[in-house]
Amino acid sequence: MNEDGIEEARSRAKQLAKEKGYILNVDERQLEAVLRGLARNQERYGAGYCPCRIRSGDPKKDQTIICPCVHHEKEIEEEGACHCRLFFKGPSE
Ligand code: SF4
Repeated sequence: MNEDGIEEARSRAKQLAKEKGYILNVDERQLEAVLRGLARNQERYGAGYCPCRIRSGDPKKDQTIICPCVHHEKEIEEEGACHCRLFFKGPSE
């Protein structure tokens, strides 16, 4: 696995977190496992599909699970983190 892919996934996640006021998982081991999964999917399938969800194999349907998936806002709002525990609710103002 290409380490650059992991760092690219990290930059994208950091950028989104910054834009939306989220924080990334502070447990570096867990964080890296998710980033690695995203990078692997990018490498294998050409898109950063969520590593914690099952792809249907239908590219159109699976667009909904390209990170950041369509579920993340609701999950973070209701559960404090997305399903993969990549993004967490940031400190409220
Ligand atoms: S649950 Fe959604 S936002 Fe979280 S890592 Fe997976 S695709 Fe990304």
